[in-house]
Amino acid sequence: MLDVARIRKDFPILDRMVYGKPLVYLDNAATSQKPRQVIDALVRYYETYNANIHRAVHCLGEEATAAYEEARARVAAFINAPSPECIVFTRNTTEAINLVAYTWGRANVSEGDEILLTEMEHHSNLIPWQRLAQDKGATVRYIGLRDDQTLDLNGLENVFDARTKMMAMPHVSNSMGTINPVEKLAGEARRHGVMSLVDGAQAAPHMKVDVQAINCDFYAFSAHKMLGPTGVGVLYARRELLEEMEPFLGGGEMIRKVTFEGATWNDIPWKFEAGTPNIADVIAFGAAIDYLNEIGMDEVRAHEMEITEYALQQLGKLDDIILYGPRDSQQRGGVVSFNVADLHPHDIGTVLDRHGVAIRAGHHCTQPLMRRLGVSGTARASFYIYNTPQEVDVLVEAVKAARKFFRNDTA
Ligand code: PMP
Repeated sequence: MLDVARIRKDFPILDRMVYGKPLVYLDNAATSQKPRQVIDALVRYYETYNANIHRAVHCLGEEATAAYEEARARVAAFINAPSPECIVFTRNTTEAINLVAYTWGRANVSEGDEILLTEMEHHSNLIPWQRLAQDKGATVRYIGLRDDQTLDLNGLENVFDARTKMMAMPHVSNSMGTINPVEKLAGEARRHGVMSLVDGAQAAPHMKVDVQAINCDFYAFSAHKMLGPTGVGVLYARRELLEEMEPFLGGGEMIRKVTFEGATWNDIPWKFEAGTPNIADVIAFGAAIDYLNEIGMDEVRAHEMEITEYALQQLGKLDDIILYGPRDSQQRGGVVSFNVADLHPHDIGTVLDRHGVAIRAGHHCTQPLMRRLGVSGTARASFYIYNTPQEVDVLVEAVKAARKFFRNDTA
């Protein structure tokens, strides 16, 4: 059991009031709050060893380089990557996926080839592939949804054909919370000689991730959704792939030797980190990983399952609510998307805000999925380690208040 009261003390922002009400922060799928330990790591870097990395011949530069590379090692261990060289720091999940679509994609996808996605992609794992397909004359196909909003994997072995080159999928849907069987999907892709990329933006912060057990080729996620700062993303890739792939951006740091005629590339992973990286935020991300490790990812997952189940149960008591995603908490992460019959999700979000409750309302960067579900958007509450059942109660009361306000009813 998480000691949520103790955890909450580490998050200064949770003490603030919004419109005179205590903040109830339920927009964790968009970005998480940051504990004091992460904020302190940022301040410590800027106050005591701020310097550029890798090239410095002075003490500060060496300390900064060591801290930056230590953070990479911690990220590698966190997802059980075989070595730190398999970890490339990017700006976010979006950039990590674009890196793969531009480098691996441009070299390996040709006219008539096919890229396999799912109907529940975030735009981050959709637009880069659509653009690649348009440029190359390839096609994009989608694995559909069943009525319970899990992927329809009937006949999975037949979805691959000789022209399928890449299968990319979300580990956990940001709009519905559905957890996808990525081990099975990546395994099936591998059996058919197809590459796999897992968008782990909603999984790495919330559950134990083992990229070697999943056996995918690429795995992407963002620091800011897992207690870390904004501006840092992670691309894990199998070593051989990073060795083979051409660089993404060109400039300083990613080169070995440069002449007026051309250049050779640095070793991995630095070949993919052109220019001065986001040193401070990567180091603070290391502190976020320490914080999560101290709690334990199994504990994080257990807490979120409990709170999600409670939220589904309490929201489910409202007669005119529509809940999305699988009902079985084993099959879903800490995301609860809902609509209240005739209310617009933005109206719900606005009333909730006045109660101090921060949720997200809209299409959640999954417009095709919303169309597939037949809605323009949903209201989405998403949980993390510091959320409590009492906060779920505040959410439910605020949803009731929204109903009352817009319908002028007394229910
Ligand atoms: N994929 C999923 C499933 C997400 O939830 C998000 C963030 N909403 C992203 C990708 C993109 O993450 P970022 O904005 O950090 O690039």
